[in-house]
This record gives sequence, structure tokens and C-alpha cells, in this order.
Amino acid sequence: MSNLFVKTLREDPSDAEIISHKLLIRAGYIRRCAPGIYAWLPLGLMVLNKVEAIVRREMELAGAQEVHFPALLPADLYQASGRWEDYGPNMFRLKDRKEVDMVLAPTHEEAFTTLVRDMFASYKDLPLMIYQIQTKYRDEARPRAGLLRGREFIMKDAYSFDLDQAGLDRSYEAQRQAYQRIFARLGLETVIVSAMSGAMGGSRSEEFLHPTPVGEDTYVRSPGGYAANIEAVVTLRPSPRPVDGLPPAVVQATPDATTIATLVAAANAPGAPVRQASGEAVPGVQGVPWTAADTLKNVVVAVTHPDSRRELAVIGVPGDRDVDMTRLAAAMFPAEVDPATEEDFARHPELVRGYIGPQVLGANAPDPDSAVSYFLDPRVVAGTSWITGANRTGYHVFGLVAGRDFLAAGDPGQPVADVAEVLPGDPAPDGSGPLEPARGIEMGHIFQLGRKYADAFGLRVAGQDGQLVTVTMGSYGVGVTRAVAAVAEENADQRGLIWPVNLAPAEVHVIAAGKDEAIFEAAGRLAQDLEQASLSVLYDDRPKVSAGVKFADAELLGMPFILVVGRGLACGVVELKERRSGQVTELSVDDAAAQIRRTVTAASEAIAARIANLSTNNLPPPTQ
Ligand code: ATP
Ligand code: MG
Repeated sequence: MSNLFVKTLREDPSDAEIISHKLLIRAGYIRRCAPGIYAWLPLGLMVLNKVEAIVRREMELAGAQEVHFPALLPADLYQASGRWEDYGPNMFRLKDRKEVDMVLAPTHEEAFTTLVRDMFASYKDLPLMIYQIQTKYRDEARPRAGLLRGREFIMKDAYSFDLDQAGLDRSYEAQRQAYQRIFARLGLETVIVSAMSGAMGGSRSEEFLHPTPVGEDTYVRSPGGYAANIEAVVTLRPSPRPVDGLPPAVVQATPDATTIATLVAAANAPGAPVRQASGEAVPGVQGVPWTAADTLKNVVVAVTHPDSRRELAVIGVPGDRDVDMTRLAAAMFPAEVDPATEEDFARHPELVRGYIGPQVLGANAPDPDSAVSYFLDPRVVAGTSWITGANRTGYHVFGLVAGRDFLAAGDPGQPVADVAEVLPGDPAPDGSGPLEPARGIEMGHIFQLGRKYADAFGLRVAGQDGQLVTVTMGSYGVGVTRAVAAVAEENADQRGLIWPVNLAPAEVHVIAAGKDEAIFEAAGRLAQDLEQASLSVLYDDRPKVSAGVKFADAELLGMPFILVVGRGLACGVVELKERRSGQVTELSVDDAAAQIRRTVTAASEAIAARIANLSTNNLPPPTQ
């Protein structure tokens, strides 16, 4: 400690909100250089290296070979794939001295695909799985929580290349199992959630989310095992119903009913059409009260495309739900979505605020070519009947029937947008029960890319019959620096970090607590003995630092075992404190090293046992 490059801080950094961020800075593991950009100090680097070693080992077991690509790449790679536009402001762009556009790579599908294309010509070269542990750059809109969302961060990214879908399935499964083992070894509980609604053509994509309230991702789970990122939740589409015989729509004065709540109140007031049990609106006296679910709410948003083109879009959702902006953003990607502004509305007088209805929207409009685009929630199937705007201030229409009075969700020409909020208790799409939402951090992402990049870059090999075959690919990412933060977040208390024994910078923190020369001598000797016993040791040998400060620093730095050599030495005893439980054991100086070795070994074995239960069946041989 007397010459370790570290300075502990007593005060939390002012920009830190979550405990891992505060403690990693205060304990001198990392230092901030700029928003979302951090320097690694010796203790931090030791943890990072251990996390990387786990990732490397598991990649090797999964049959992946390590490579290393540049972070600085020419823009033309990303122009060829379309991501030069799609990435938008999230990509760090620069020019070299010859004015050539360059990129600090946010991810490397393009570079890996072209390299393999240039090297491979035959099916005999496949399958191939390669990976790197490398620095990525993304100019995140909201860098946050220290290492959790950086603008510079380290990712393990692996890419698989196979001849056919069966091969891709094998590669994907090998990565999936490697991820389960990696997160088990890091002691991070993860939930595997589906990350794509299937709109992209059946290719699989899953995220490994670590459940925690500080996570930025929302996901849902059902008791029967469905789990999906909120962005990917699929809404069950009800069966269409016949429109024949439904009563005609009625326009009704609804002054000042510009919100769903005031509209429902107006609908239940005397004089308004009455709701029948079946949900239809008919004139009459007796009925079931209208609820927000009977209304069709039309939400106006502004969509900005990657080429900067801005247009309005309207999303029609049942009025008991809001549009979920996260789901909408995912559905509209790479376009960006914002609330519509006053100027937007001024340009579209057909949109009567508070009273917007489908008849002026999308393909329903008198002139569909110039109409604002209209997207419908999947629940608005043919034969459903709605209260919605009459496109006239102070009026709504009752009993407007999808599939009769306007195009229904699923009708040709009427795009569906599954972007309404998912409410607790909504049914899982696979019938596995009610959905429960929770929050998590995305630790990893595995993705069956299929032929998207191989097509874009012409990655083809000669098949067995001599015909050219387009290679099918997968990509697989783990947030390595994010993992350090997640582990710290999970293993901390008010006094400091508490590293698991397999990730700690050192297994034992030896403290010389006192002023006597004898104490320093004994502590120094014990530190040496422990190292001789193959343990890693951090020795606080600082001569003029009080025992109290040393204890506080030891708890802040978070080594799992703290050995205190102090007053007890006179009677031949030292104290071993387990950082996590606070439990203190007195040990005789003479066999302290041997005892500590047994304790540390037991702790390491308990961690190793976590992966023993995970299946390693179906793994391909380590080298291909
Ligand atoms: P997010 O949704 O959190 O922005 P992403 O879906 O954009 O992440 P991927 O492109 O799938 O991320 O990247 C693979 C992995 O890299 C993620 O699972 C995550 O662990 C990590 N990662 C992504 N962005 C960051 C970041 N800004 N800082 C730290 N780690 C990150
Ligand atoms: Mg992702």
C-alpha cells in the first residue's frame, strides 16, 4: 500500500448516483476523464483483467479463437452496411489528414465479415468462430452510472460463420452456454430474455439481463417461462369478428372531452349512445358503462429518419394504454421518435387535437398519398368497435368499426405497431400466464444475424457441389467493463466494495495495525507466507497511518479477507475478518497462513461449484 498508485476518497463524487459508481471512484479503481470515459488504476485493472480472463477461458471452451481488430476503421465499411446512416449521432466520426471519413467503431460486424470474405473461399474453411476483447466507442446520449453506460467501453464481441442454419444454431448454442457460465462465474444472476419480436424474420436474438432496480432495461416474465425485453413483447392479436349487422357509427357532441378521462365521462353522461355488453354502441337506456378500453386513442409523434427527413405519424392504441416510448423507439429504429411540436400540428390542420380519428389518417384518408402515416395496435382487429375522434372540435364518433369504417390492424395497407405499454397481468403471447415487469442491466446479447452482413459484403464460399453459398452469421457481445460495474453494484455495502474471491485484486488484505516494529515485522512475514502459499496479498505497510484509517481503507477497497496484525500479537494471535459477513476469527500467528489458505480455497471452490451444475453438453470441440 505504501507505494501502490491509489488514493482513497472519503467523499462520494458529485455526479455519482449508484453505489458501484461511487465506490469504484472512492476506492481508487477508476477515475473519470470525461463524461462516460474512464481511466483504469491498478486495482481496477486487476479486476478487469480477471473478468477478461473468465471471458477468454469460456470463449476458448466454446471453440472461439481470439483476434484483435482496430478501433479506428474507415467509414466505407459502415456505409456499405447502411450503419453509417443508421447509427446516427451515436457514432464517433472523424476525418484523417486526407479528409477520409473514419469511425471509432461502435461494434465490428462489418470488419469481421470483410476479413473472413477476403480469406475464405470454400465450405471446408467453415465453421469459424472468432472473438475479440476490445474497446468500443459510442457517443451515448446519456452516459450514466460510471462504467455501466460509457462512451468508451470494453466489449467481448464474437462472430460465427456457418454454412447453414443448423451450423448457426450450433454456434449460437455454444455462445449461449458460454454466457451462462461466464455470468455464473461472475456471480451475476441473469435472465435470458428474447430481444426481438420476430418481426425480423424468425432469426433468434436473446439478451442476458441482470435483474436489478438500477437497470435501464425493462423486461417481462411469466410464471410459465416466457421472458422478453419490453421492446420485444408480442401482443396477442384477437381473432377478427364479423362486421355484418353492427350498428352504424354515431357522431356525438362531446365538448371539452380532449382527454381519455373526460371522454369516458362524456360517454357515460345522459344522452350519449349506450354501451351494450358486447361493446357495441347503440341508442338506448340500459347498458354497461363505457371504459377507457372502449376508446381508440390516436397519439401523434414526430419521426426523424436517418437522412434527417422528419414526418408525423399517428399511433392508434386502445385508450386504457399509453404508447410505450421505448417500444416505439425500438419499432421505429433507425428512425428517431419525439413528441410532435406546435409547428408540426400547424402544418397538418386535418389533425384536430383532442379529436383525431382514423378517417383522416394513412390509407383511410381521402388522399392517402399526402396523409399522415397511421399505425394501429394489434388489438384493433376487424369487427372491433370504438369511440374515437370525429376530426372536428367538440365531437367524437361512437361505434366506429375497424374493418368497416376504417382499415383494421392486419388489413392490407394498414401497418401494425405493437408499441402500446405492457401492463402487469397482460397475457404472455405463448399462453404461459400473466406478465410481470422487472428491471435489469443488459450484460450480454446473442444474435443470429443470418445473411444480412454476408449479403452486404458478398461473403460467399463454394459449397460441396461447387455452387456459391452465402455464409450465415451470428454476433455475440458481452459488456466487459459493464460487468465490472455490475459485480461491484451487487457486492458492496455502505462501507465499501466486497469483491468475490475470484475477482478481487487480492484475496487477503494484511494490515499492520500499530506502531511497534514487531507488528510490522510480523505482518510483513505473514504477507510473505501467504504469497508463498499461492495467495494474492495486498499489504498495508504504511508507517504513519492510523489503524482506524487502515481499517476504513480495507473495507472500502473490498478484499474478501482482512488479516489484522495488532495488539494480539503479544499473545501470539492475529485476527482474520471476512469482509462480507464481518465475522472475525482469532488465529495463532504460527499457523495463520495455512488456515487462511484453507479458508480462501474453500471460498474459491464454492464459486467453481456454481458452474459445475450448468450443462456443458452439446458443446463443439474446443478447436475447429
Ligand atoms: P444498450 O441497450 O445497453 O445500449 P446495446 O443493445 O446497444 O446496449 P449491444 O450492441 O448489444 O448493446 O452490445 C453488446 C453488449 O455491450 C451489451 O449487452 C452491453 O453489455 C455492452 N454495452 C453496450 N453499450 C454499452 C455502453 N455504452 N457502456 C458499457 N457497455 C455497453
Ligand atoms: Mg443489445
